[in-house]
Amino acid sequence: MPETVYCPNPDMNAFENALKQFDAAAKVLNLTQNQVAMIKDPRRIVEVKLPVRMDDGSIEVYKGYRVQHNIARGPAKGGIRFHPDVNVDEVKALAFWMTYKCAVVNVPFGGGKGGVICDPMKLSNGELERVARRYFAEMVDLFGPDKDIPAPDVGTNAQVMAWFLDTYSMHEGEYLPGVVTGKPLELGGSAGRVEATAQGIVHCIVEAAKHLNIDIKKTTVAIQGFGNVGSYSGKILQAEGCKIIAVSDISGAYQCDLGVDVKFMMDYVAKNRSLAGIEKHTKCTKMNDPQKLLELEVDILVPAALENQITSKNAPDIKARIVAEGANGPVTPNGDKILNERGIFVIPDILCNSGGVTVSYLEWVQNRMGYYWENEQIQGDLSRMMRAAFRNVVETSERYKVNMRIAAFIVGIQRVARASELRGLYA
Ligand code: NAD
Repeated sequence: MPETVYCPNPDMNAFENALKQFDAAAKVLNLTQNQVAMIKDPRRIVEVKLPVRMDDGSIEVYKGYRVQHNIARGPAKGGIRFHPDVNVDEVKALAFWMTYKCAVVNVPFGGGKGGVICDPMKLSNGELERVARRYFAEMVDLFGPDKDIPAPDVGTNAQVMAWFLDTYSMHEGEYLPGVVTGKPLELGGSAGRVEATAQGIVHCIVEAAKHLNIDIKKTTVAIQGFGNVGSYSGKILQAEGCKIIAVSDISGAYQCDLGVDVKFMMDYVAKNRSLAGIEKHTKCTKMNDPQKLLELEVDILVPAALENQITSKNAPDIKARIVAEGANGPVTPNGDKILNERGIFVIPDILCNSGGVTVSYLEWVQNRMGYYWENEQIQGDLSRMMRAAFRNVVETSERYKVNMRIAAFIVGIQRVARASELRGLYA
């Protein structure tokens, strides 16, 4: 992992960066002090210690968090991250972004996020299961289908959601699949959820290309991160006719000007856990500096790994015309300013990657009905909701003469502030 990702530089504090984004939109909206007080800071921050028995019999104590940022519009909603660099400020930022993401795409949820400081790549399957179950058990009173509903994020997947579901259902003494989304299909998961975030990103990219008069079929793409979001974005963009010329993951960045074979790479990662060694099996070359992937001569750049990747340092060298934020918080406020000045069209995370939470919402609705839709229905709803959100943000950016990020926050903040106002104060 590059050192720049979690640098102590205040520019790199994800929560402070999130608050700067809030302030920029709040200023345009002239929010009152009372409104700001109700919707800016997290509502609840929980930290737990997780003692876990390792395969060799020793006990390791992990630290876990859950942050509920705002629940004015519905139960808290947001993924759980398992990563060695998880910290409370990062979880606070991710929970904050969830509040406004749910509001932008207009699903009836508040914002939350969780994390455990651990390296899932170094845990056996049994150890991973014990970490997951202990985390959920420690937080069992916090979660619930009408209280707080987790989903996968970096380092967690459908299997981890299945363990969460089982732990919760055993505690409650009844089967409650609506407590998590992103579950396996066999346990009440939704058709289309696995690729939903990526599909939503592609809807946004297609709309952005139309808006900018770019022929999507003639575009080249670089993707940072080749997990759930990055790999499916590559697959779906390739199906749209784009040429993916570089992808990267924790093992490095791989370039192929003729276009990479995304399907082959996905199969390779399924077998080998990462892209390490892929250059020996394809025409790709491994780049000397993986961060240079961000600066390649492409039309579309999809950062789909972690926060703070595009900063004031490399923003002057970004050549893409569209930056589609697959990851949460991949561009720092200083980096953002430079991209804006250079006329690069940034599709902000709270709009761009909201397809995941949109299909999570559809999954939760199906769990409550006990009736399951075909993929066609899900794809139709996802496309309609993403395109409506995209249009709304573009129109807001034109009305207020602001960039897409500020416009997305304006849409989100207005909805959250109104819900807060309508609910008023209890006691
Ligand atoms: P994942 O764990 O499936 O994949 C993460 C990928 O990033 C892996 O390929 C990993 O090797 C790579 N990576 C990590 N550090 C890197 C680095 N320094 N340089 C290049 N690659 C690196 O996670 P994911 O679910 O795909 O999430 C990726 C991003 O998308 C995160 O910011 C997450 O919060 C966001 N997101 C995910 C979803 C979802 O539904 N999964 C929804 C919205 C947003």
